[in-house]
Amino acid sequence: MSSRPDASPPPAPAVFPTWGAELFDAVRRDGRRRVVLQVPAGLVRNAHDLAAQLREATGARVTVAARACFGACDFPSVDEAPKADAAVVLGHAPIPNVTLARPTYFVEMREPGGDPAALAATIDRAGLPSRLGLVASVQHLGLVEPLTAALACGGRTVRVGTGDRRLAYPAQALGCNYTGAESIAAEVDAFLFLGTGRFHPLGLAFAVERPVWSLDPLQNVLEPPIDRGALVRRRQLAVAVARDARRWGILVSSFAGQNRMPTALALQERAQSRGRTAEIFVFDRLDPRDLEGRSVDAYVNTACPRIALDDGDLYPKPMLTPPEFLMALGDLPLDPYRFDTYH
Ligand code: SF4
Repeated sequence: MSSRPDASPPPAPAVFPTWGAELFDAVRRDGRRRVVLQVPAGLVRNAHDLAAQLREATGARVTVAARACFGACDFPSVDEAPKADAAVVLGHAPIPNVTLARPTYFVEMREPGGDPAALAATIDRAGLPSRLGLVASVQHLGLVEPLTAALACGGRTVRVGTGDRRLAYPAQALGCNYTGAESIAAEVDAFLFLGTGRFHPLGLAFAVERPVWSLDPLQNVLEPPIDRGALVRRRQLAVAVARDARRWGILVSSFAGQNRMPTALALQERAQSRGRTAEIFVFDRLDPRDLEGRSVDAYVNTACPRIALDDGDLYPKPMLTPPEFLMALGDLPLDPYRFDTYH
């Protein structure tokens, strides 16, 4: 993990709803001269244009961080861009309990679209349960309040949860943290996720034992719940396959918001006390090729939990999350399944 060059308090994040003048003014006003720009996968094509706009509007030297980025947990480190005096990170809200190494401008790319009345009508037509929990990607958080009101007008009870210190906003979801949803799960019969793609509905389905509907608010397209039972059975099978592993590899990421070294050390101790060997491997961005040819029977990954859950099949040996590892050792039951919440 990169460290700050002096002992001054870590900088607070600057947050902007959209790309544009407000951000440019702040970068200029703060006197930033060298900026590293990070864009999410969906905006890679536009990275050059965005860099040019930022350069022109602020007069700063702008470089583009080329490494793939998956969340606000893996913003460019000081080692990756040593000369930059600030970072501009697109598409993510800051993670409140992750320490920043340098001044960072988060541009959340909020989406203003979506018609609450039309969305509520779609939900009514599909016959969703009357007690609903709302969860949203950061881009669509602005819809939570008006959609809650529209659904309440139709007689529904809508709950919005507040998560732990890894979440910046009520109703927000991260792929590794659905604590807001978990806090209200007992009060609702189903969840409605506002956003696009399967990444969050899938994570939410792992985290809460409730049906998770998914609504693309701009297209007004509602997707039925994912089969949670099938997801969980697949992971229980992965646990069963790894149960006899004697030599474990424990994976630790150096990204600021993915580093769980204390967890890794505790798991290493646990493995050894159960007669297994366990070696800790450190990396920044994990690549399946880095794990080839190692004398290891199975891995437990303390970095982003979605690597094991979504991409585990890409790796040469079974890869479990920390709770699954404890299941494999017999220290936790297989049922109920426990999602690896990154707090
Ligand atoms: S740890 Fe994974 S799921 Fe969590 S914010 Fe980072 S990339 Fe997203």
